[in-house]
Amino acid sequence: MARIPFIAGNWKLNHGPRAAAELALGLREQLADRGDVTVAVFPTALSMHSVLPILEGTGIHVGVQDIAAKQSGAFTGSNSAEMARELGCSYALIGHSERRQLWGETDAAVRAKIDTARAAGLLPMVCIGETLTEREAGRVEEVVFRQLSAAFDGLEADVAATLTVAYEPVWAIGTGVTASPDQAQEVHQSLRGWLADHYPPFVSEQMRLLYGGSVKPTNAAELLGCADIDGALVGGASLKAESFAGIIAATR
Ligand code: PEP
Repeated sequence: MARIPFIAGNWKLNHGPRAAAELALGLREQLADRGDVTVAVFPTALSMHSVLPILEGTGIHVGVQDIAAKQSGAFTGSNSAEMARELGCSYALIGHSERRQLWGETDAAVRAKIDTARAAGLLPMVCIGETLTEREAGRVEEVVFRQLSAAFDGLEADVAATLTVAYEPVWAIGTGVTASPDQAQEVHQSLRGWLADHYPPFVSEQMRLLYGGSVKPTNAAELLGCADIDGALVGGASLKAESFAGIIAATR
């Protein structure tokens, strides 16, 4: 089954309202008429108000970079899925390795946030991936299957099919070191196999599995050419319209 490619940009803690607006304007110009690819950007919450009106009606989706497990309450400094939805966001990035490593986010917390996002009407994009130590110890499958089972625990097939999974080896994020197409494809194939083992065929056939970790316009075509890599979650190279557009062009 042909899956529509999905390219997402994680702006992390970069681009305040002015710079984010400039980038959004650049994307609006460069990405017109790309109905053959799903595009989403994840600005910092404090720049949402400048990005959302610029991208409205362009087909470029906007997502929130993390959400609290609760929709509201005494959670100082957190982002609410319901509020992000009210603003106009359509996706929530959940379980990014920086959240897992720097904030100690557990598999259980990731699972809870998936429910919170869905309850608010946001589509979860769930990040998984092994550290270098885990890879060197030959534990890649064990780690990503553990993260996947926790994320999908108790989810019915029709719900599971609405998730997007981003495989991001931690050693490749922001390091300039990219997994080789063979390394990435090997893991993606295993992930699709895991889905096929746990769900009816339509789930593994429909689900878009993105690769993330130092994707650039120069290596995107090779990675996106792999059978089980349906797109990319891009950090550094999503901060400039030309390089992000260059990655999107590589889906052709
Ligand atoms: C990311 O933050 O999800 C990411 C993949 O970053 P980079 O592309 O900079 O490695």
